[in-house]
Amino acid sequence: MESIKQIYKIGYGPSSSHTMGPQRAANMFAKRNSGVNRYEVTLYGSLAATGKGHLTDKAILDELNSIAPTTILWEPHTVLPFHTNGMKFTAYVDGKSDPIDTWTVYSIGGGTLANEEFNEQKASSVKLYEMETLSEIKHWCLETGYSYWEYVEQCEGKEIWDYLAEVWEVMQDAINRGLEAEGIIPGGLGIRRKAVEYMIKSKGYSSSVKSKGSIYALALAVSEENACGGKVVTAPTCGSCGVMPAVLYHLKETREFREIRILRALATAGLFGNVVRTNASISGAEVGCQGEVGVACAMAAAAANQLFGGSIAQIENAAEMGLEHHLGLTCDPVCGLVQIPCIERNAFAAARALDANTFAAFSDGKHSISFDRVVEVMKETGHDLPSLYKETSEGGLAKNFKNETLA
Ligand code: SF4
Repeated sequence: MESIKQIYKIGYGPSSSHTMGPQRAANMFAKRNSGVNRYEVTLYGSLAATGKGHLTDKAILDELNSIAPTTILWEPHTVLPFHTNGMKFTAYVDGKSDPIDTWTVYSIGGGTLANEEFNEQKASSVKLYEMETLSEIKHWCLETGYSYWEYVEQCEGKEIWDYLAEVWEVMQDAINRGLEAEGIIPGGLGIRRKAVEYMIKSKGYSSSVKSKGSIYALALAVSEENACGGKVVTAPTCGSCGVMPAVLYHLKETREFREIRILRALATAGLFGNVVRTNASISGAEVGCQGEVGVACAMAAAAANQLFGGSIAQIENAAEMGLEHHLGLTCDPVCGLVQIPCIERNAFAAARALDANTFAAFSDGKHSISFDRVVEVMKETGHDLPSLYKETSEGGLAKNFKNETLA
């Protein structure tokens, strides 16, 4: 497996596959074709179907338009065989109708790029982790006495703590910005930010409701920031970026966990996310929302359980439940925007992560379904889902959406 830095990418929302990936691809194409007069970019499949709402065009134009005029073509009904998030970049010079360069590449999830010749996920970087399944890692931990986060440290080196400290800072900044901002989220749905309202209201309730309200508010704060194109950390994607910060921040505030323990919890959560990314997918376009919000919930459940002193088996159990109870979850963002159902879904997943933690904490850690098994099932389920439910905005809540403001 690669570094957990691939799970925690720092960048701008609203979508790792639809903004971070295409922006990086445009940047790479521009670097190899800087002296040109015109670019043309064709977006295919899911990227074309929901790209406008996800600001894919803006992300690409931000990179290319300053070098040469750029035209974007939308082909939502053409799904290229390699992956549904396809893009073809073409560069032209004056007086020539034939392009001087074309490049077809795919944004395969979490901001990662691949095509028939290269795959950032598999080949690019050094394989830092020898073990790729949770069962192998778990047995190693049980045999050696080390924890999951210590395995991360051994594979990544001590430098990982600096990176995770930066991740934690960006997460907290997103929470603070999100709890201050008010107003309408751009995109045309007319949704107002509600994080601050939820936080204020939660303070008037007794402790258990207050706690739940605070979790909702923290997740809303980050997801709303993401929907507004703010700086966030993929955990594991932009669409699901509210879950981890909400759970960690809530526990830090209410239980006074020291920062080093939060960073260790981030390391363990990253390890679980990495196992999914390696053996299945964290892309809504590939496996639906179970791979995004479901995985975020699993990661946050593992982090919470570790913070409360869970055993190796209990941590696995918490993560497994976080994902198991999101199996089959579809991706159907209304109007292609990472807003409905995404923003509130983060709030519910954060609360569910804490439920999974409690459930695992009350057990002796024995469970019938392993984390690896649930990852395998998530992959199969995702592939069986019709494409209507995989980020195309053609099915589910996105189909025939009417803004019925109900009071
Ligand atoms: S529904 Fe889930 S997978 Fe789809 S865009 Fe929203 S958060 Fe991402």
